[in-house]
Amino acid sequence: MEISKNSVLQQTNSSSMSEATQRSCEPRRKKAEDRSAPSEMARIITDAATGKCYCRGKVLGKGGFAKCYEMTDLSTGKVYAAKIIPHARVSKPHQREKIDREIELHRALHHKHIVHFYHYFEDKENIYILLEHCSRKSLAHILKARKVLTEPEVRYYLRQIVSGLKYLHEQEILHRDLKLGNFFVSESMELKVGDFGLAAKLEPAGNRRKTICGTPNYLSPEVLNKQGHGCESDVWALGCVMYTMLLGRPPFETTNLKETYRCIREARYSLPSSLSLQAKQLIASLLAKIPEDRPNLDHILRHDFFTQGFSPERLPPSCCHSAPDFHVSSPAKSFFKKAAAALFGGRRDKVKYYETLNKLTKEEEIYKLQHDLEKTVISQQSKKTSENGSPLPPSGCPVALATESQSATTQDTIRLIVRGSLGSCSSSSECLEDSTTGSVAETVASMLRGCLENMPKANDTPQALNGCNLQWVTKWVDYSNKYGFGYQLSDHTVGVLFNNGTHMSLLPDRKTIHYYAELGQRSVFPTCEVPEHFVGQVTVLKYFSHYMEENLMDGGDLGTVTDAHLPRLYLLQWLKSDRALMMLFNDGTFQVNFYHDHTKIILCCQRDEYVLTYINEERVSKTFQLSSLLTSGCPTDLRQRMVYSLNMLLQRCS
Ligand code: ADP
Repeated sequence: MEISKNSVLQQTNSSSMSEATQRSCEPRRKKAEDRSAPSEMARIITDAATGKCYCRGKVLGKGGFAKCYEMTDLSTGKVYAAKIIPHARVSKPHQREKIDREIELHRALHHKHIVHFYHYFEDKENIYILLEHCSRKSLAHILKARKVLTEPEVRYYLRQIVSGLKYLHEQEILHRDLKLGNFFVSESMELKVGDFGLAAKLEPAGNRRKTICGTPNYLSPEVLNKQGHGCESDVWALGCVMYTMLLGRPPFETTNLKETYRCIREARYSLPSSLSLQAKQLIASLLAKIPEDRPNLDHILRHDFFTQGFSPERLPPSCCHSAPDFHVSSPAKSFFKKAAAALFGGRRDKVKYYETLNKLTKEEEIYKLQHDLEKTVISQQSKKTSENGSPLPPSGCPVALATESQSATTQDTIRLIVRGSLGSCSSSSECLEDSTTGSVAETVASMLRGCLENMPKANDTPQALNGCNLQWVTKWVDYSNKYGFGYQLSDHTVGVLFNNGTHMSLLPDRKTIHYYAELGQRSVFPTCEVPEHFVGQVTVLKYFSHYMEENLMDGGDLGTVTDAHLPRLYLLQWLKSDRALMMLFNDGTFQVNFYHDHTKIILCCQRDEYVLTYINEERVSKTFQLSSLLTSGCPTDLRQRMVYSLNMLLQRCS
């Protein structure tokens, strides 16, 4: 986000400079086009009161009095939507009063779903109103590209419209011109109600003005009958908006105005059978002829249309031009299908059942997948029996570790199966790792080797440390035959090292994502504003998270950590042999999980001291200073596992 803002600033700065010095170089044709606009409107506009300079950019749209431009504050780089109204256009007192009223009313509004009013100033030629810039234009633009919207999208937008409208009504303000063109959409696909040109204070029923100066788009029967505009008339307009979004045309549209008005007065319109029952019922109640029969805003949100249908929390920007696939993107769907296949042990009937999901409508699919499939999977794969390490994928089926006597202590007994690294495509035949990953691995290997080579043979167990607060992998899922390797840390961070060599972490707050394409190069974005090109990866990340949360048990008694000061761990490399899984993290934390008996070794550096944690077969953990293991020795089972772990580390790139 920051980068794009800076680039906007740079662009506007350079364009403004050339504008100031070379204005005469503008093509003639452009000047002719602008003749209807205020002549020679300056490109650099100064607010005399504050001294701030703005650069006028491209035209966003044209309104009744105003033309709307992109306008950049040259001191901050912030981009606004600026309504520029030539004084000449509002020279009559009633016109000027109308603008002043709109400014007074709008500037007092502060709500997430209302276009924000930032600032207003005037110069000799124009009035300038600086508004929140809604880069995805309006629902009218979206509908034009899409023709119709899906019911989940309509729920998504309507919820936000109702939220903004509820705020307006609480301020005793009626919008009086709710229409798709006045619902603006921000960069992050949030809806903002705008254009308060016809808005007015709510008056008691008897006192209401009977006419509106201007033409609201969706006139209600009572407004047509000159009974005045109340909150219910805004609700009527919502009904028209909902209808138009779902069917691509307004409910009252005939070839002549007289007929249209007659239909409105009688509340006569058609409800095609393509709509769901709940949608039809809600539209019918919103378009009730008698205002008092219409639901209030709270009732609307409690209607079956909202409570019984899937309502996405956010929409990807691709929804501006094509129908969404919602949360269940194809990769995620296939993820669950594979999961079902693995969990049901290949029972064809069940797998077939999930395959039928493909034939359902998007919405039914969501339901089936989220409520049906997941629940079934969870109950079939009882939490009691599922150990971390995933029952899931074909390549992830744990392989029994050799018995103690066969246990690997030399390099040549390690059979590598599969691996992945940050910054390179995973492959079992090459290792294109980053040199930094290599040096992290070398440091860990030298610590472990130093300890093993100098440790006495004694079977003693040194004194364990108390209260160690360490980060370790409590759950993992290898789905690298398709997407990558996922894991959950003890602080509940979920990470996925994707097959393309990139890494994503979903932080414990579940609202923040960290993205790494290589070691140390982090991008941060909130889950509600996922850049378009990351939407697929984030979907997979969330499903990994959900899957592990619901299906896998923690792999030991170490518990969770919530220490905000601990470093943020992310996986640099993972490697699976036929006996164990090895994971190496950015801060040098190194963990090896042995499949057959669920024992684990975690080596990490705490306050300049290396400590080794061993989780035994009973899932009981003990943490030792590496230096005390070095002096006192350790039991054979731990030593053998340390040797095997070191060998895995040394063979990472073989
Ligand atoms: P009208 O009142 O006739 O709808 P406006 O002056 O409110 O006209 O807006 C004119 C056009 O400018 C809109 O149709 C829209 O395309 C664009 N526009 C207005 N406000 C914004 C905004 N906040 N962000 C982006 N574009 C906007």
